[in-house]
Amino acid sequence: METDYLVVGAGASGMAFVDSLIAQSDGEVILVDRRHGPGGHWLDAYPFVRLHQPSAYYGVNSRVLGNDRIDETGPNAGFYERATAAEICDYYARVLDEDLIQSGRVRFFGLTDYRGADQGAHRLTSMLTGEDTTIEVRRKLVDATYVESSIPSRHTPGFGVDPGVRMIPPNDLVDLDEPAAGFTILGAGKTAMDTCNWLMDSGVDPNMIQWFRPRDPWLFNRASMQPLELVGSYMHLQACWVEAAAESEDAVEFAHRLEADGVFVRISPHIEPRAFRGATISMRELESLRAIERLVRQGKVLHIGTRRIVTDRGDIATDPKRVYVDCTAAGVRPTIARPVFEPDRITLQYVTIGIVPWGAATIGVVEAAMDDDAEKNRLCPPLVFTGDVADMPYMAYAGMTGLTARSSDPALNAWTEASRLNPARGAAGHLEDPRVPTAFESLGANIGAAMTNLERLAGASAAV
Ligand SMILES: Cc1cc2nc3c(=O)[nH]c(=O)nc-3n(C[C@H](O)[C@H](O)[C@H](O)COP(=O)(O)OP(=O)(O)OC[C@H]3O[C@@H](n4cnc5c(N)ncnc54)[C@H](O)[C@@H]3O)c2cc1C
Repeated sequence: METDYLVVGAGASGMAFVDSLIAQSDGEVILVDRRHGPGGHWLDAYPFVRLHQPSAYYGVNSRVLGNDRIDETGPNAGFYERATAAEICDYYARVLDEDLIQSGRVRFFGLTDYRGADQGAHRLTSMLTGEDTTIEVRRKLVDATYVESSIPSRHTPGFGVDPGVRMIPPNDLVDLDEPAAGFTILGAGKTAMDTCNWLMDSGVDPNMIQWFRPRDPWLFNRASMQPLELVGSYMHLQACWVEAAAESEDAVEFAHRLEADGVFVRISPHIEPRAFRGATISMRELESLRAIERLVRQGKVLHIGTRRIVTDRGDIATDPKRVYVDCTAAGVRPTIARPVFEPDRITLQYVTIGIVPWGAATIGVVEAAMDDDAEKNRLCPPLVFTGDVADMPYMAYAGMTGLTARSSDPALNAWTEASRLNPARGAAGHLEDPRVPTAFESLGANIGAAMTNLERLAGASAAV
């Protein structure tokens, strides 16, 4: 077979890229994935997961996810709705069947493994039959697996577990065959937080939960991540981010300033976070997590037996009837930056902070709009997520460099302004909210100093 673009990976990255590419060019695409359908990790997500961010700016550019509605009741009251995994999977199936395939320019092959290229011929292998197919690619191979998510249901824990220990991924909590004597949650990320909150919302007493949380993260306050009618909140976040970038002496101060502004939050006010993965949480969820007092912060788990847990700082007695929930998969994997655009290849990466679909769609639009790889890379410097607070200035510098470069390209700026994937969309139409004009003024006043300061902090320019 032949195609213009061979896109490997039909998760949020690959889908957002293909949707924008075909909307802006006449290119033909073959899209492949090892999974049976589109949606990536969402197809294997734990059943109580929801988007961390509003659905209003997740998915692909050409189709709305959900109803852009503000929830009136429940734990998300006052914020834009957030899709469940089932809704996200249904959405991507519709995008594929009703939009991409209907265009006549996209072919999809599920249960198909990309096995690399040999002298220009790209090899695909069917995971059902083992049959090989070669593809001749006229324009580019697109790697939509580079920022692939690492998730609990497909993850092997990095510690030993004795037979008889009830160790499960969060997915299996809904299928317990006998009640637990207590729950031990392993991991400090958003999956662990979701799991703790779900257990408590389902009636588990916080004292029954033991939480191994060696490294606390900084989190975005969901109140600051609201789009559309509430876009003033997001503009306030942007202004605080740039002001903190202009004035901070290091990454730790940067984070603390954002906390003082109400943009960043942490679970325990007395614990200094050392991680940052871009996750978002509400104050209600945070308050609920603070009720868990049985925290274990002593280093790394090495082995779990029926009677004791071995850590690198000593043993802890345990009970054979406890259920252990493995939330230690990395989620957003740390990556090494590589140029997004190379002569025969595009590597989809974060080019906007923490928002995969907006970044991937932006790369699709840039690819469709111009030929010069150097210019395309100038517009799309990749952000590296190491997960470490110390590296935030690198990330912030790359993010602002890309945003500034793209906003001075009129066509690209017009696309960004109109894109549903951009959380700041339509901000200029909400000047009645005092946070919006204040933010525009602050951004104008601080962006130059922010870029200079970030460049100084840890030689941030080396990251771009
Ligand atoms: C629980 C959870 C909640 C999240 N919530 C948000 C959120 O609210 N907002 C946000 O922006 N991000 C969120 N994220 C981050 C998430 O990483 C992105 O939103 C996004 O879903 C990642 O998409 P992806 O396409 O890059 O990776 P994936 O979804 O992992 O897709 C990659 C695909 O590539 C395929 N693949 C890999 N290798 C091959 C090969 N050799 N051949 C064929 N196919 C291959 C895989 O099968 C997979 O389907 C969340 C992540 C998790 C784990």
